Amino acid sequence: MSRTTVATIHLGALRHNLERIRELAAPAKVMAVVKADAYGHGLERVARALDGAADAFAVASLGDGLRLRAAGHRQRIVVLSGPDQAGDIAEMQRLGLDAAIHHESQLHWLSETSPTRGRLRVWMKIDSGMHRLGFAPERAATVHAQLATMPGIDPDIGLMTHFAESEVFDGERTRQQIERFRNATYGLSGPRSLANSAAVLGWPDARADWVRTGGMLYGLSVVDGKSGADFGFRAAMTLSTRLIAINTIGRGERIGYNGLWECPEDMPVGVAAVGYGDGYPRSAAAGTPVRVGNRCVPLIGRVSMDLITLDLRDAPEAKVGDRVVLWGPELPVEIVAAQSGTISYDLTCGMTRRVLFVEDDA
Ligand SMILES: *Cc1c(COP(=O)(O)O)cnc(C)c1O
Repeated sequence: MSRTTVATIHLGALRHNLERIRELAAPAKVMAVVKADAYGHGLERVARALDGAADAFAVASLGDGLRLRAAGHRQRIVVLSGPDQAGDIAEMQRLGLDAAIHHESQLHWLSETSPTRGRLRVWMKIDSGMHRLGFAPERAATVHAQLATMPGIDPDIGLMTHFAESEVFDGERTRQQIERFRNATYGLSGPRSLANSAAVLGWPDARADWVRTGGMLYGLSVVDGKSGADFGFRAAMTLSTRLIAINTIGRGERIGYNGLWECPEDMPVGVAAVGYGDGYPRSAAAGTPVRVGNRCVPLIGRVSMDLITLDLRDAPEAKVGDRVVLWGPELPVEIVAAQSGTISYDLTCGMTRRVLFVEDDA
């Protein structure tokens, strides 16, 4: 147990972040995006923490909707990719899930849907420029009319689009996507939803009736050079382990696999019990900060499966058994992500099964 890497999920931070999103997005309603096991924080755990506080949950797949219903959640749940096959529709009706509808194939399945199981609530997804999912803007009015006449569908049809780079606050592409969405949905009835986390911060025009926030809920940022804390959010995950060895290694010796890092002098090298087998990124560069006790020290050498090596020259008080924090409120995961060539979301989503999850109210 002492060698276990621990992900501590801060339930108070989740609740704080949701409140902060509400303030920023008001009067819009908030869909708490809990796809990918709540960005690696644990679907049921996060949903329990936010029960009653979020206006709806958003998930990627029917299976996650089923998990939330099984856990007893009664809120609206929006399945962001909608049905993947015809049979999913009856299941979504049974579970009372909202379906995003983005493709002609789904329209065909829906046209054969009977209203007897209750009317399915749908969100029509328009591709305003990201070119992943959605109907072409020119098709929006026609598809909306088609959906509105289907007996198995709730006539209050939501209108949705997704941004490709809303974290670029002065970018032309988001401006253009907002414009295209507005034109495509002009005169159509129904609630509008455009904004993901970054758009809530940077694109007030996109807040509309519902925002769909994931990253910010967990205190994460995708804005270059900024952490969630810079916007008033609190990190909802601390990843920690222990220091299990300190060795004095001589000048000119090389550390770890392939000897990527050479000791410039005789020096103390710390070894912490975490590696890519836990989800700490193998691509983390030498110099990535790691907290030992109350101090940040640089990672040195290559991240291995179970272990990392640390330069302890500036931490003379460090001792075996000390707590080591890889990221958390005192060490933004965005910094580790930037040093690893990825984004914070990728890291929190990447926790492996051997990581022990615990909760606190912080
Ligand atoms: C993941 C996702 C979101 C949430 O994005 P964040 O950047 O995490 O806020 C919103 N909408 C859709 C369609 C998504 O797939």
